[in-house]
Order: sequence, then structure tokens, then C-alpha cells
Amino acid sequence: MKSLDEYLREAEQAHGHLCAGQVLGVRMAMVGLERLGIEDPRGTDRKRLVTFIEIDRCATDAVMVVTGCRLGKRALKFRDWGKMAATFVDVSSGRAVRVAAKESSKSLAREMHPEIPEKNRQQMLAYREMKEDDLFDVQWVTVNLPEEEFPGFKGKRIVCSACGEGINFRREVLRAGKVLCRACAGESYYIPLKERSTSGE
Ligand SMILES: [Zn+2]
Ligand SMILES: [Zn+2]
Repeated sequence: MKSLDEYLREAEQAHGHLCAGQVLGVRMAMVGLERLGIEDPRGTDRKRLVTFIEIDRCATDAVMVVTGCRLGKRALKFRDWGKMAATFVDVSSGRAVRVAAKESSKSLAREMHPEIPEKNRQQMLAYREMKEDDLFDVQWVTVNLPEEEFPGFKGKRIVCSACGEGINFRREVLRAGKVLCRACAGESYYIPLKERSTSGE
């Protein structure tokens, strides 16, 4: 593993700026990796790790930098819970650890650096210095990871009987004997403005 400063430099580059969220995210991921004994997550250990992230904010980018887990490798799982927390799963051993930022860390940052009025700068410095115990709750957990959730899983491609679009990796839904995509099964996040056309208009 690299040092906090090295990871912060990389995170700053990837994210576009350095902020309190980067510090939190980098430290969160380092704690997870350390507990799991994963030394080289982007090199020799790159197939060992799956990360569940519970927030889509600055810290998310930092967690991706340290772990190397990305959406495009199916090694990053997003749970939209609005919580500053992540769970790191060692798929080679099945061990998993959830690291959550303590709510009290914000007020502690104020106590540590009252001389810095600007919140982001205050937290950026305090989160660097804060003891792990003050910053995070760390908990061993079990994560049920079915085979289709593993980065390397390949299933057969199957077609939705309603919209005709192809579905990979067992994401289809079976309803009344019909194969449906999740949109047609009622989970859609979009509403088409007009009927599907093949002309592209
Ligand atoms: Zn940021
Ligand atoms: Zn469909």
C-alpha cells in the first residue's frame, strides 16, 4: 500500500481537487485494505477485492483511486444510501469489513481546529490527523455475493420479451413465465416521451 500522502495526490488528480471527502475516502479505503491484508489492490491483489460504496460524493472517487475498484469492472457496487460508508470484500477469503465515518468526527474536527473557520479546510486537516477510532466505526460483516456479482462472471445474454433489449449477467426478472428487463418489470427510472421508433426520430 502507498502512503496517505501519495494516495491523496493521486486522488486529487483523479477527482479534480483536494477536499475533505478525498481525505475521508482515502483513509476509509486504507483502513479496509489494511484489515483485509490486501497490500496491492491495483496490482497483484487486483482480483481479490469488491467494494460496496454507500455514497456518491467526493469520497467515492477517492475510494476508487485507492482500491482500483470500478463500476466498469463490476468490482464497485453502489448502494444509494447517502451514508459515508463502504464495505470491502476479499473475494478470495470471503472476509468483509465495513468502514463508516463517525457522525461525531465533524464536531471533533471543529474542536481540533477552531482556528480554521472554513469547514472544508478544517475537516481536511482534521481528518488527516484524527485517530482511526475517532474517525471510523469498523465492523466485520458477511456479504452474500452471488456468482453473478463477481467481476469475472459471464452468463448468457437474454432478451426482454417486452422491449426486446438484451440483458446480460442475470439481471433479468422472471414474471408469470416471461423474461423481462428490470425497466419493463416496473423498476424503470425513465418514462419514454413517445413510442419506440426504429427510424431514430
Ligand atoms: Zn471533492
Ligand atoms: Zn424490457
